[in-house]
Amino acid sequence: MATSNSGERWLERDDLQQLVDALATAGYRTLGPVVRDGALVLDDVARVEDLPTGWRDSQAPGRYRLEKTDDPRVFGIVHGPDGIKRLAFREREVLLEVECEGPGKPFRARATPPEPEKIAVLGVRACDLAGLLTQDRIFLHDRYPDAYYAGRRQGLLLIAVNCTRSVSTCFCTSMGTGPEAREGYDLALTELDGGFVVRSGSPAGEDLLTALGGRPAAAAERLLEERRALDGCAAGMKRRLDTHDLPDLLYDNLRHPRWDDVAERCLSCANCTMVCPTCFCHDERDEPALDGTGTVRVREWDSCFNRDHAQIHGINFRPHVRERYRQWLVHKLASWIDQFGSSGCVGCGRCITWCPVGIDLTEEVAAIRGEPS
Ligand code: SF4
Ligand code: SF4
Repeated sequence: MATSNSGERWLERDDLQQLVDALATAGYRTLGPVVRDGALVLDDVARVEDLPTGWRDSQAPGRYRLEKTDDPRVFGIVHGPDGIKRLAFREREVLLEVECEGPGKPFRARATPPEPEKIAVLGVRACDLAGLLTQDRIFLHDRYPDAYYAGRRQGLLLIAVNCTRSVSTCFCTSMGTGPEAREGYDLALTELDGGFVVRSGSPAGEDLLTALGGRPAAAAERLLEERRALDGCAAGMKRRLDTHDLPDLLYDNLRHPRWDDVAERCLSCANCTMVCPTCFCHDERDEPALDGTGTVRVREWDSCFNRDHAQIHGINFRPHVRERYRQWLVHKLASWIDQFGSSGCVGCGRCITWCPVGIDLTEEVAAIRGEPS
């Protein structure tokens, strides 16, 4: 998707419903951030009132709390465990259906690619966009493009919200992915007092912007206010991951005692991989009907923390948590770069927040560097 834009527009906060309506008129189902059961999730948005106006999240290692405030901002809350990855790479998906009249009889196999669906996602954060571009590299631009992923991905229209607030687990500035959306969006919004600076990043976004009208946002003070808000968010982000020579550091320390230390704390629960926007491991298996009349081939998210993930031909090559945690971290921050040319971490901090025992990958790397904790 193009990243250029033809000039910013200004949308009053009270006019945000016009954007939601314009998406519906253009035939999109709109998803956005919605507070549900004490967390932020992606769900259908028909009215601006569905969005999390006034809500704030407080996040720390192993801790996530929401609080309602009087702040009129719609997108003041940062993120939850949910993300846009699952809209293209489904948690569970039937790939193939096989029908058979019975044992020894002929069978018919039918691929089950997804029906095209136009989905607009409102409120996508820069880290999640970077995560989706990573998934694109794996499922669209690698040697074997995936028709199922491609079918879902092409119907997505992405409306980013630049972050003017971060939580304590964020470190996107270390990974060069945020707090401002850089590429991959159709529209990008920055929320300021009273409204939004809106930019288009694709022809579809430009069409929406035209349909939306809105005033030019070119007033120098407004763009200055936007820059101050984005720079302030970046400057306020205290968590850091020192990426200098990181692959070599990890490759040279595969026997470091810290791996034993983290293995004593890690439950191997796989939460970190389930919330990660870049993790792409999956398993495929056949689920036959008990009466022998058919089977379905299913693809499901998998995790390198699952013991069976390393089970081959009667042996398990990562039997201990120590090897599984090391595999996860070294792949994310080192061998991913050899494989795909970029880091496997976008600095969203979700794995830190949602780890039940608060394991923090930035702290683990610092320990391997020998930095004082
Ligand atoms: S490894 Fe953690 S911080 Fe990095 S992208 Fe995945 S969930 Fe986010
Ligand atoms: S690092 Fe935390 S979230 Fe990940 S498997 Fe271990 S205990 Fe679970």
